[in-house]
Amino acid sequence: MSAKVIDGKAFAANVREKVAGHVTRLKEENGITPGLAVVLVGEDPASQVYVRMKGKQTVEVGMNSYEHKLDADTSEEALLALIDQLNNDPAVHGILVQLPLPSHLNSDLVINSISPAKDVDGFHTSNVGLLGTGQKSMVPCTPLGCLMMLRDHHGSLSGMNAVVIGRSNIVGKPMAQLLLNDSCTVTIAHSRTKNIQDVVKQADIVVAAVGRPEMVTGAWIKDGATVIDVGINRIERDGKTKLVGDCEYDSCAEVAGAITPVPGGVGPMTIACLLANTVTACCRANNLAEPE
Ligand code: NDP
Repeated sequence: MSAKVIDGKAFAANVREKVAGHVTRLKEENGITPGLAVVLVGEDPASQVYVRMKGKQTVEVGMNSYEHKLDADTSEEALLALIDQLNNDPAVHGILVQLPLPSHLNSDLVINSISPAKDVDGFHTSNVGLLGTGQKSMVPCTPLGCLMMLRDHHGSLSGMNAVVIGRSNIVGKPMAQLLLNDSCTVTIAHSRTKNIQDVVKQADIVVAAVGRPEMVTGAWIKDGATVIDVGINRIERDGKTKLVGDCEYDSCAEVAGAITPVPGGVGPMTIACLLANTVTACCRANNLAEPE
């Protein structure tokens, strides 16, 4: 079997087009322009790239982008003061603090200082609790993107066996919660899981969010399963730097029914979902019907 390739790049372009349509309507019918504030502390090169991409795409869909770049030695007090200012700014509907933060800053404290209604990353404990109890919340962007692609491919996910590899707060745990909310039977595997290959082999849906290049091979995958590869790993191969996922693409694609490539799978969906979450936050703030 040769897997269907789930084209995250095309899917994300479609999501952005829908977001742009909503933004146009909000402007024309309600005189409101959604605004996203992104806060970057320090000069981590990968974070700088992500922040630049987020700003660019925010503007491209017609929203306002507010970038706040702070020095690496910014005090917690100064950062919290900025977040307080953004919480109270009616032009700002979404606030994202780019992670990781420098080690002298308490990430949990900082994230929990964002107004839950503006927490477009969905990392505030209030949003985590709402998601965990099946209530309306802001949903973390990467797992949301994975869920959208899974729903598009399968229609209903009800009753499917899903194995999520990884239990981070930003990907693994919310992914498992979303799959559970969609009535999957969910297993979370992690670094202490015994016989992980056998566990993964039971899955109709595999979501790999590990950060280990090509750890999951075709031998782990059940015939016809859907493989969502969240991993983004930079490796050296044949003297060149290459981007690979947590799944060994060729061997997994031989066995799987469908698979997301790296790059061009989950990655593009993450920013598209951030833009969608910002429109949702804007609609909720103004008591307007939110996009589906
Ligand atoms: P973390 O490092 O926070 O979590 C990794 C998880 O993988 C942990 O739960 C860890 O288990 C588990 N793990 C590590 N080694 C093994 C192993 N040998 N077997 C089984 N499980 C293992 O990573 P993130 O969740 O933040 O990110 C995961 C990957 O996804 C990374 O490659 C990252 O770059 C990528 N990513 C991609 C995004 C995108 O937009 N496409 C967005 C966010 C992340 P334990 O808890 O026991 O230590």
